[in-house]
Amino acid sequence: MHLLTSHHLSWIIFSTVATCKGFPTLACNLLSSVLSTSVLLPESEAYNASITSYPFLNLRLHPTCIVRPKTAQDVSTAVNLLRGTECTKFAIRGGGHNANAGFNNVEDGVTIDMQSINAVEVGKGVARVGAGALWQDVYDAVEPHNLTVLGGRIGAVGVAGFLTGGGISFFSPERGWACDAVLNFEIVLASGEIVNANATSRPDLFAALKGGQNNFGVVTRFDLKTFPHGPIWGGKIGFAPEADAALNSAYTKFKMEKYDPYAAGWITHRYNGSTKTFAPSSTLWYTRPELKPGALGLMTGVGPRVMNGMQTAYAGEMTRNYSRIVRAVPRRTIWATTTFHISPTILHRIHAVWKEIVPKVCETYAYASPAAELTFQSLPPPPRNQSHPNSFGFAPSEAPERDLVFLQVVFIFMDASATTGFENALKEFIKMFEDLTEEEGVRHKYLYLNFAAKFQDPLAGYGEERMERLRKVARKYDPNGVFQKQVVGGFKLF
Ligand SMILES: Cc1cc2nc3c(=O)[nH]c(=O)nc-3n(C[C@H](O)[C@H](O)[C@H](O)COP(=O)(O)OP(=O)(O)OC[C@H]3O[C@@H](n4cnc5c(N)ncnc54)[C@H](O)[C@@H]3O)c2cc1C
Repeated sequence: MHLLTSHHLSWIIFSTVATCKGFPTLACNLLSSVLSTSVLLPESEAYNASITSYPFLNLRLHPTCIVRPKTAQDVSTAVNLLRGTECTKFAIRGGGHNANAGFNNVEDGVTIDMQSINAVEVGKGVARVGAGALWQDVYDAVEPHNLTVLGGRIGAVGVAGFLTGGGISFFSPERGWACDAVLNFEIVLASGEIVNANATSRPDLFAALKGGQNNFGVVTRFDLKTFPHGPIWGGKIGFAPEADAALNSAYTKFKMEKYDPYAAGWITHRYNGSTKTFAPSSTLWYTRPELKPGALGLMTGVGPRVMNGMQTAYAGEMTRNYSRIVRAVPRRTIWATTTFHISPTILHRIHAVWKEIVPKVCETYAYASPAAELTFQSLPPPPRNQSHPNSFGFAPSEAPERDLVFLQVVFIFMDASATTGFENALKEFIKMFEDLTEEEGVRHKYLYLNFAAKFQDPLAGYGEERMERLRKVARKYDPNGVFQKQVVGGFKLF
């Protein structure tokens, strides 16, 4: 067991008062002395491997050191030490797939990289998942038992950020947010204590962790509800550029007609700045393949098509295939989101604005080899069991899954010098789309945290009452605000 000596701590506290300068280095030295091989220093092979495992180039910051804990106790030791240093900034990294630079990594500070805590243990009705696992690890562990979970739709995505931000799964139209299928969170609090949060023990923290992300501690294990399931039907369909309006009409109809709880997925408009071409596509799944295509027929029937990747397979096979595409060529990626009620016209209007402006933006930064995407998808239903609330602010009587749509605007590019330009374009797009939805009277305040940009405030979108509850939980479990002040990345409560 690693214990900090009182000598270490008094040294730390004395030095903190004196100055913050040089503190990350001191913290790293101390961490090395207590966690030895779990601390990775710059230039080492393991440090470089951790940095290059971030999927987007903009996330590859260079911390003073990386701590790669192997157990919850290691996490506790690290948190105790970092709390003692007060001014050492630190970041928590799960799968590293949040596109906001500085949310899962830090310059001049310490990154806690959870990737080594990735074991998945399958029990009766439950999968106990280490917080550094990726969704592929989970599917690979549960599917041999003919079981599945509410998980990510791309295997390379991390369990931790996904679940603490919400989590939209193949099965979400029928079964809700993935975080609502978490039975228990094991978490290291700011005090270093390792505790459990579930429906009966610390229910306030349990609800806060479903949407409050890194504001309360470092989650070390998720216990997920499993359920029996076989293959699903789904995949990507590529359409000819001229099919874009028909695809928007089909998705609008899909949203406005009878709700189909087995129909999941999204439609995307992509612009390639190098070839100056548009490519609409759909990525859809039907979880009851024997009844396919159900309401998805509205979109799968659109033409002309240029590619049809629909197949019947286990979720884990689909997630593995998608990971290969995402991992192919690492680039810079930034994104933002907004939410609105469906109307007969709103998708068409948003798409028309994007289609007119996006080639001009890409032309301005053509040297950065840009691409851009506009994606529309649905939100899951809220938990209808009052005793297990999440933090998103939808009442059990509301039906966001039926009439709300959220969009993602994404820029993908190579050259770092184009970052400010694309960030400004992202802000302008969101402003234009929110003006449009406001004008039509369909704007909604909710923002899906896992696709929100740094400049957005998804926690405020949960509503003042939920925000106040989240602040209360943060004050209770982290009275000195370690996760507000020292963990600088992520959406903060204060
Ligand atoms: C290719 C791709 C596909 C995606 N598909 C989906 C999808 O199907 N459905 C969906 O809902 N979302 C999807 N997302 C969005 C995804 O949910 C977020 O990117 C999410 O943040 C990924 O989790 P992560 O662990 O990889 O995140 P990270 O980037 O590692 O972390 C995200 C945030 O969570 C915090 N965090 C990480 N680990 C912990 C921990 N152990 N304790 C406390 N806080 C922690 C971090 O500090 C950070 O602020 C996708 C994203 C990408 C890039």
